[in-house]
Amino acid sequence: MSQLQVLTEDVPQMEISASTQELAALIDDHLGPLRPTSPAWQVADSPISGRGIFAVRPIAKGEQLFREHTLLVGPTAHRGRNLRTCINCYHLPAGDTDAEALCSSGCGLPVCGECVESPRHALECQLFRKWQPKDVQHIDPRALRILSVVRCFFLNESQRKLLYAMQANADRYYMREVQRAAECFEHFPHDPDMLEYFYRTVCAFNTNAFESRCQVDGQEIVARALFPLAGMLNHQCTPNAAHHFEDGETIVVCATENIAAGSEITMSYTKLLWSTLARKMFLGMTKHFMCQCPRCQDPTENGTYLSALFCREQGCKGLVIPVQTKTLQPDWRCLSCENVFPHAKMARYQDFALNTINNRINTCSVRDMIHFINELCPRFCPPSNYVLIEAKLNVIWRMTRLGAEEYAPEELAHKDRYREEILAILHKLGAGECTLKKLITEEIQ
Ligand SMILES: [Zn+2]
Ligand SMILES: [Zn+2]
Ligand SMILES: [Zn+2]
Ligand SMILES: [Zn+2]
Repeated sequence: MSQLQVLTEDVPQMEISASTQELAALIDDHLGPLRPTSPAWQVADSPISGRGIFAVRPIAKGEQLFREHTLLVGPTAHRGRNLRTCINCYHLPAGDTDAEALCSSGCGLPVCGECVESPRHALECQLFRKWQPKDVQHIDPRALRILSVVRCFFLNESQRKLLYAMQANADRYYMREVQRAAECFEHFPHDPDMLEYFYRTVCAFNTNAFESRCQVDGQEIVARALFPLAGMLNHQCTPNAAHHFEDGETIVVCATENIAAGSEITMSYTKLLWSTLARKMFLGMTKHFMCQCPRCQDPTENGTYLSALFCREQGCKGLVIPVQTKTLQPDWRCLSCENVFPHAKMARYQDFALNTINNRINTCSVRDMIHFINELCPRFCPPSNYVLIEAKLNVIWRMTRLGAEEYAPEELAHKDRYREEILAILHKLGAGECTLKKLITEEIQ
C-alpha cells in the first residue's frame, strides 16, 4: 500500500442533511448584509469534491467575489503564542500576568477591561463559570482553545443548520480536544447530545478552519475561524481566487485570474510556492485527498522546477526532478546525465537542504541570511528549489517589517532581486493577482 493511500483512506464524512439548494439559502442568511445584491457566483455540486462555488457570469481578474463574517471564531491557543489576548477584541489586556488578564468574575478567560462588560462576554462568562474552571490564576490553553467550539452553543437555528451542512471529516481522534478541555473544569457538561454537538463542531473546524491573521497592538493575532462560504472553495494548486483577512473575523475572497461563466472558483489550501511533493504530503495528511490538478501532473511544475535538486553523479551538476507525479515516492531523473535515483536518496537530500536552510532562518540576522543564500546555498541547492525560495521570502518579510532605513543599499538590492525572482515564478505558475503577489509588492499588509 502506498504512503498516500494510508494518508487518504478511512476518514468517513459526516452526514450532511441539507440539499445544495438549502445550503445556498443558509449561506445567504449567514452572509446577511454582506451578501452582494447580485453575486457573481453560486453554490453547486462540484466535480472536484462535494459542493463548490461557480461563476455565474464572466469574472475579471482582481474582482472582489465576497466578504464574509466568521460563523465561529476563537483563539488558536497554540503553545508559545501569547495567550494574554482579549477573546473578544484581540487587544492586550492591562498588566503582565495571566491573573491580571483573566476576567475578574472567575470564568477563566482572558478579556480586556472594555469587553468584560460586553453582552457577548456575559453569556460566555456565565457558561464557563457554571462549569467551574479548576485554575482561575492561569490561562489554560486547553480551556482557551475549546472556546471557538463552545461558541456553537450561541448559534441561532439557521446557523446551526449551516454548521451541520458543512463538510466534516469524522475522525474520533478529534474528540481528544473536547476531552482535554473537560479536564480543565469541575463540571464540564457530559450530556451526550451536547458532546455530540461539540464533536461535530470540532470536526467541522478540523476540516474547514482558516487561521485568520491580523495585527492588533503591534502583535500578530492568529485565530481559528470557520467561514462556511470561503470554506466551500475547492482546492487547486494554481487556483483562480485567493483570500486575505480584513480583520480577525472577516475574510475577503478575490479573483486572481479571469474566470469564465460556469467555471468553478478555486483557492489553494497549501502555500503556492511549495513543491509538488510537499503539497501532496500536506494535502494527504491534513485534508485527506490527492490533488489531480494540471500543475500536480507536470514534473517540471510549469517550468519552475520547485522540486529540483542537484544530481548525485560525480562531475554532473544537472538538475534532478521527480519523474512520476502520482506517487509520494517517485524515482528521480537527472535532466543532464539521465541517471535515475531512488526516492529515499533524494528525500534525504531534500531534508538536508530543508534543515540546513531552516536552521539558518531561525538563527541568522538578515545580513548573514543574505550572505548564506547568495554564497553558500548555490553549493548544495539549486536556486529554483522551493526551500531556497522560501528562505528568500523570509528575508523579504523580515526586511519589510523592520523598515528599509535599517539596511545598506546592496542589501535592499538583493531584496528587490529576490522579489523579482519570486514574481517571475508566480507568473510561470499562472498565479495571477494572488495574495502573495499583493503582499510582496506591498499592495496589502
Ligand atoms: Zn476586548
Ligand atoms: Zn468572564
Ligand atoms: Zn494540484
Ligand atoms: Zn546528472
